Amino acid sequence: MLQFTDTHCHLDYHKFNADREEVIQRANAAGLIRLLVPGLHHKSSQAAVELAEKYPSVYAAVGFHPTDLEEFNPKSFDEVKELAHHPKVVAIGEIGIDYYWVKEKEARAFQREALKQQLAFAKEMHKPVIIHMREENDAWFGEASADLLTILEEWQKSLSGSLAEKPGVLHSFNGTLETAQKALALNFYLGVTGPVTYKNADKKREIIAQLPLTRLLIETDSPFLSPVPVRDKRNEPSFVLHIADKIAEIHSKSPAEIAEITTANAARLFAWGD
Ligand SMILES: [Zn+2]
Repeated sequence: MLQFTDTHCHLDYHKFNADREEVIQRANAAGLIRLLVPGLHHKSSQAAVELAEKYPSVYAAVGFHPTDLEEFNPKSFDEVKELAHHPKVVAIGEIGIDYYWVKEKEARAFQREALKQQLAFAKEMHKPVIIHMREENDAWFGEASADLLTILEEWQKSLSGSLAEKPGVLHSFNGTLETAQKALALNFYLGVTGPVTYKNADKKREIIAQLPLTRLLIETDSPFLSPVPVRDKRNEPSFVLHIADKIAEIHSKSPAEIAEITTANAARLFAWGD
């Protein structure tokens, strides 16, 4: 049976309260051997760690999402730092920049400050990062990409050892080919989500066709971004197979090859063994 990994699913989200256990069982039955649940703030990070403790296939990341910074302060950050020592916490995230929901200058500056503090912590912990990035008006390139690349470049250049070689992933990548190439040059991985399956996503598919398979991860971002042909349903990790199928088509490979490559990529980046 093929082995898949979903490196980004928000299983702590309330939309899974009624059937979380079944969702995880369905994922395991579909061949998903590992599910990575990123934190959105201190409480969600705690919930992600609790899921990782309860389910063998679940791993956690901890951090503050750029649109969830209302309670980002030294005390809540300390709580996240404490959680990061848990053996099943494999990354710091999701952290980053979001200029889609946040327009105000000071608030954007605060996002960059929170990002830099969390990157510094990831370096201290020697753990990779899961990066969220969204442009104003969902543009392909703009201030968010430019600011993010500046911050990531400075950070990556300060790293050493295996973290410099695999510093993290740009989750649900939605930028230009140029941005992708800059991220690849900084040794980042790129996450591919459901929108790659959308009818109007030719430009995205053209970009993904030019990216090396050894640096792609498949992610559902459950419960959001449901792929075709289940776009009208709540997204869940077992649907990662639809994303694998689309990447197989784009790269003229078999779904089995995509499963093997992306699962190996995730194991390399998050160092969770085989
Ligand atoms: Zn997310």
